[in-house]
Amino acid sequence: MERIVIPQKATHTPVALADLIVGAPMASRLLLATSGPGQVVMAGALGYYVGSAARDWFARRGVRPIDFQAAFGADVSTLIPMTNAQRREECRGLSERMSDAWTEEKIPREEAAVEINRLLTRFIANITGQEIITSDAIRGFTISRIAFPFAIGSCDAISGDVAIFQDTGILEPHVIAHEFCHRKGYLKELHAQAIAHLALRTSGNAVFVQAARAERLQRNLAVLSGRDPRLFDLELASLPLRSEVRKWLHQYGPSDEKPSRVSEALRKVYDQRMRLTGQNGISDYDRGFTDFLHTFRHSETATQPRSLTDW
Ligand SMILES: [Zn+2]
Repeated sequence: MERIVIPQKATHTPVALADLIVGAPMASRLLLATSGPGQVVMAGALGYYVGSAARDWFARRGVRPIDFQAAFGADVSTLIPMTNAQRREECRGLSERMSDAWTEEKIPREEAAVEINRLLTRFIANITGQEIITSDAIRGFTISRIAFPFAIGSCDAISGDVAIFQDTGILEPHVIAHEFCHRKGYLKELHAQAIAHLALRTSGNAVFVQAARAERLQRNLAVLSGRDPRLFDLELASLPLRSEVRKWLHQYGPSDEKPSRVSEALRKVYDQRMRLTGQNGISDYDRGFTDFLHTFRHSETATQPRSLTDW
């Protein structure tokens, strides 16, 4: 098996370099009333950041990414839309499986990160024949938390820095897997959602399988409710779920609070940015992701077994 190591040295520094580049001159001006020392820190961080990114870019040259259309018979522009009836059937099936296989076990974040990274490497290698070795470091904060207040996690596409901002309980393994897919080079949201789901769902680890099912269920409910919090809770209440699962899906679902104007505006910018990069917009996280699994499930041309999409 061919093995490609992406060093991602920038992910191992004590503070995110992107934060130092943006924040050091600001902090220096605030604390020392002069931007001089901050600019020295910024220049150092920038040098390391660029150097790390250049080494990663060089290492990535031989990577063969998954051809989604060939492997799964589905990609961003070839999705077959699910009907609401199909979504409700899927929600019911997922709920029943989750109740039968419920586990309250939790895996500490750092430990989960190592295992999830290994699973993703294996899943991708089974399709492409290449092991893409990437960092499993995670941060609790980066400045992108402020730029994207609605985000649960983030991945800096240049440095590979991954941060997880919120405790999403049973869903957290999926959030980590999603960001780690970006780190492995899958920058499109639909691709990150799909690989994260399939790798966790087929992991054989009860905690990770639970996270994969919970994400798929939550995303179906988001589409069925049009992200309306009241409709979301109504859909949720109609399912045979344990209270623990219900609690996390509610918490991670659409918020009752009216989003601020700034948050709304940033969301629109983000949606537009996604469209400009060959994606369908923010809907790829939920509608696109669930339609992808549905399309793969019914594909006549996929080279991967369609049983990967089982509930
Ligand atoms: Zn993402």
